[in-house]
Amino acid sequence: PHLIPMNLHETVEQTLKLMSEQLSQKNIALKNTCRAGKAAILGDARLLSQALVNLVLNAIEAIDDGGHITVGSINCMHLFATGAKPGNPIAKNCIRLQVSDTGAGIAQESLQKIFDPFFTSKSDGTGMGLSVSHGIIREHHGVIEVESEPEKGSTFYIYIPLLEEGG
Ligand code: ADP
Ligand code: MG
Repeated sequence: PHLIPMNLHETVEQTLKLMSEQLSQKNIALKNTCRAGKAAILGDARLLSQALVNLVLNAIEAIDDGGHITVGSINCMHLFATGAKPGNPIAKNCIRLQVSDTGAGIAQESLQKIFDPFFTSKSDGTGMGLSVSHGIIREHHGVIEVESEPEKGSTFYIYIPLLEEGG
């Protein structure tokens, strides 16, 4: 990846615009609440856009017709494991990007596998989307997590360290 100073909110905004056709085809309402807060990170906008597209496409595919997708962000601290000192994580100021859908949700027994390459529950799926997104977020020294409730929906969280002023 080519990591340079960038604003994650700008990339989110541009990426979501590219998805408007697929969203309207399924009558899915998209709400983007990314506005306030710090969003300066060291990132590769093209790769982060791909990571987000994969999440939003999955959300669209999880919704039958007429559901909601919400994208938002907050600033928070997150604990990261350090390779040098196992069991001694360090806290970093982060941006947490969130993609929530009102789709089918993910079965408890699948949650551990969805980031594995080739894991798919779809007859025409490749199982590569989340694996690629996971790899991209790792390359940004971030983490990706999921929460889901079958029949209610899913939320994916991406934590990426903020580019600290003067740091
Ligand atoms: P694919 O979309 O080709 O199946 P992905 O790697 O993108 O591959 O996703 C892997 C699997 O994770 C999907 O097949 C699906 O079972 C599950 N999944 C991912 N995102 C969602 C979501 N938003 N809602 C429900 N299931 C999801
Ligand atoms: Mg996918």
